[in-house]
Amino acid sequence: MRTWEEIREDFPILKEKIHGKDLIYLDNAATTQLPQQVLDCFVEHYTKYNANVHRGIHYLSEQSTMHMEAVRNKLKDFLHAENQGEIIFTSGATDSANLVAQSFLRHVLQPGDVVLSTELEHHANFVVWQQVCQECGAEFRMIPTVDGELDMDAAHKMLSDKVKLLAVTAVSNVTGTVVDIETLIAWAKEYEIPVYIDAAQAVRHRTFDLAGLQCDFLGFSAHKMMGPTGVGCLFVREKWLNEMQPYRYGGGMIDIVTEEKTTFAELPARLEAGTPNYSGIITWGAALDYLMDIGIERMASYEEELIKKAEEVLEAIPQVNILGHPKQRAGCISIQIDGVHPYDFASMIDKYGVAVRTGSMCAQPIVNKMGLDTVIRISPAFYNTMEEMKKLGEYTEKVIAFFE
Ligand code: PLP
Repeated sequence: MRTWEEIREDFPILKEKIHGKDLIYLDNAATTQLPQQVLDCFVEHYTKYNANVHRGIHYLSEQSTMHMEAVRNKLKDFLHAENQGEIIFTSGATDSANLVAQSFLRHVLQPGDVVLSTELEHHANFVVWQQVCQECGAEFRMIPTVDGELDMDAAHKMLSDKVKLLAVTAVSNVTGTVVDIETLIAWAKEYEIPVYIDAAQAVRHRTFDLAGLQCDFLGFSAHKMMGPTGVGCLFVREKWLNEMQPYRYGGGMIDIVTEEKTTFAELPARLEAGTPNYSGIITWGAALDYLMDIGIERMASYEEELIKKAEEVLEAIPQVNILGHPKQRAGCISIQIDGVHPYDFASMIDKYGVAVRTGSMCAQPIVNKMGLDTVIRISPAFYNTMEEMKKLGEYTEKVIAFFE
């Protein structure tokens, strides 16, 4: 088994100097870095078999199509989905949610219906549903939180026959809260409510066995799991597939086109109009192989240790306040520092080579709930080290001392 030190060597960007200092990259919840094996796959694609997919019967097009469809199969296996048709390629988690909203929810919602999301969500799993509700005269409601944890009692009470979708994240991109989606899904099933799981943050921190976990839709992005940007996946459980109406039209998704009417291709092509980001999808395949090779569980447990270490060093600094106290945290931790504005902190710690994120994290409801509009987020990945966590503490103290 390769050590974490050996694995770290796979990531060329980690050797970069930032302002003359070693890079300490702690912005993995925004996007992760790519190992050489994945970068090589991208170059190999464009060097050896680039051609548009599905549209040609020449050799290169067949190769390209075959490699892209192999990734659909890999994703099916990765999620333990029943068949490849349940895997729709999208441009990312945001696009996945929008696809469900426009292809499915818009056709189902009636005035008086309810869609439930939560206070913990990224805007991609909040605004999307809110807007469709407004267009359809339905009610959008938000399950509240308590100290960064979903209020499960409130969630239970808010479920009813009127709810037409429950959209919830598996892991928060602000507090790192691990949400008990298993229980929520079980409760939703009592009312036959379809459930959309936002797995954008969670996908690197837990396995998803969709043969057991009975969510109906699940979306995530490649770039948060060592893959390229502009590619994502929407899992649609087979029983909903035929309810999905196309909402983007064009090439690749049609059957017969005449002036009078158009008939559409079979699924999943019907929902994948235009040239897909096939080079990105193929490269994502190499990232999936890479992660599977390390093992999601091994990775998640090491990242949990890194997060605990970050928590420990930051807790020891009196001016630092950790936001939210969830029972289980994965992937990230957000803080506020007395007397130091997050933007000042981020730009000063950047001078030490440390990359952290500041802002509302595209999650204003939870950030505002904590009485803030801007926070500092630290999100390690398996290529970070305990030593880097210690340095995070040291540099944080130095930045605070500068403002005192
Ligand atoms: N959901 C969560 C929880 C996220 O953290 C993000 C991105 O940060 C998204 C959705 C949106 O992902 P993307 O921007 O790749 O579409």
